[in-house]
Amino acid sequence: MDFELFFYLNILSALTTLTKETSMDFFNYKNGKLHVENIPIEKIASQVGTPAYIYSKATFLGHLKKLQTAYSAIDTTICYSIKACSNINILKILAQNGSGFDIVSGGELFRAKQAGADCSKIVYAGVGKTDKEILEALDAGIGYFNIESEAELENLIKLTKQAGKTTKAALRVNPDIDPKTHTYITTGKKESKFGVDIERARQVFNQYGKNDSVRLCAVHVHLGSGGKTIEPYVEAVHKILPLIDELRKDGFAIEMLDLGGGYGADYESGTVPSPEQYAAGIVPLLKGKKLKLVIEPGKAIIANAGVLLTRVLYIKQGGSKKFVIIDSGMNDLMRPPLYDAFHFIWPAQVDEKFVPAGKVHELNIAGTEVVDIVGPICEGADFFAKDRALPPVKRGDLLSVFTAGAYGFTMASNYNARPLLPEVLVDGDEFKIIRKRQSYEDLISLEK
Ligand SMILES: *Cc1c(COP(=O)(O)O)cnc(C)c1O
Repeated sequence: MDFELFFYLNILSALTTLTKETSMDFFNYKNGKLHVENIPIEKIASQVGTPAYIYSKATFLGHLKKLQTAYSAIDTTICYSIKACSNINILKILAQNGSGFDIVSGGELFRAKQAGADCSKIVYAGVGKTDKEILEALDAGIGYFNIESEAELENLIKLTKQAGKTTKAALRVNPDIDPKTHTYITTGKKESKFGVDIERARQVFNQYGKNDSVRLCAVHVHLGSGGKTIEPYVEAVHKILPLIDELRKDGFAIEMLDLGGGYGADYESGTVPSPEQYAAGIVPLLKGKKLKLVIEPGKAIIANAGVLLTRVLYIKQGGSKKFVIIDSGMNDLMRPPLYDAFHFIWPAQVDEKFVPAGKVHELNIAGTEVVDIVGPICEGADFFAKDRALPPVKRGDLLSVFTAGAYGFTMASNYNARPLLPEVLVDGDEFKIIRKRQSYEDLISLEK
């Protein structure tokens, strides 16, 4: 591509993101300084240090409320997907505001319970649930299990019977729809380890659905994350409703449809559908069908509500490339190397001309330079952005990596013996540390 055009498109997409982010999600530049709600982010950096994850309560609660309103015309339970961001303080706030939870492990069940979740609003997915995890979920009295295979269902029935309990289950089906996202996060196609093919679903119900312990009463589908349009969801509902009709004719009381997660979060372009737009596509199809709806959004709630705050360590020229080396690495945020994910990155303090003033075309974008933003880890994959337009920065400057709330901290590791980052929650005029930065002692505390 022509370099100038490439350069321009890069800036354009970046600034569109920022405009959207700043207008909707409580990350605003005031006098050239990035604020999270009412707090200058610089103040957090000076007290907490960098790198750090910083979340805005008003943002994720706003997303939850928007979802609750958008689907209110039908009986809907929103089950926030804990794996996106699992800090117990955030789970507590979501639980207090009516959210249920989508879990994928015993550890996530533990977190949900500690956060005071209503266990009847917990749904449990995952292809490899262990007996221990299943028994813990039965003990907790979760809402239902999302079943990924015949073998798992057989085991669940056996364990539930042995425990003298009853529970509910949804069969996860693959509607064979491609949400056209990254292959690693596409899960609703046929060649997938998740769920069973839709053609086989009726057979599974007939073989396993008639027992006294596990009531198979729902259908689950999760297309994978990052779908950027409504169509795959609409197509999925169109494929699943006839199945539900057949199952009902076969004598199964199907009470629920779980449409999973994967609703887009705005990483890039400002073109991702809003909760209202998804709901406008989905809700009319389900009206009058006597089905409860469950949705399991992760990033649609938390992605835009978090930033990764980092400091510039060094500027380095390598051949024709300019590298901005920062104090955060791929161990803190895996998404760029793992999924080739785009994160908008911008200095926390900028000259007036780099502050988005509303509309993109009004912005003066002259003066930015194209750089690679990379971390300190000894891996070629340790990058945050390549060939990215950035206002000039120098050692010590703060950079904000936007839309990092989902699959950021939860995927962080201690690779290179780097302590896990702190997490900070901003609420209006106040902020608090909701997870301490690990110390060097923490790194070895379990190794005695
Ligand atoms: C990961 C996951 C989700 C959440 O996905 P998002 O893209 O964060 O919305 C929901 N349901 C299931 C079963 C998942 O595995």
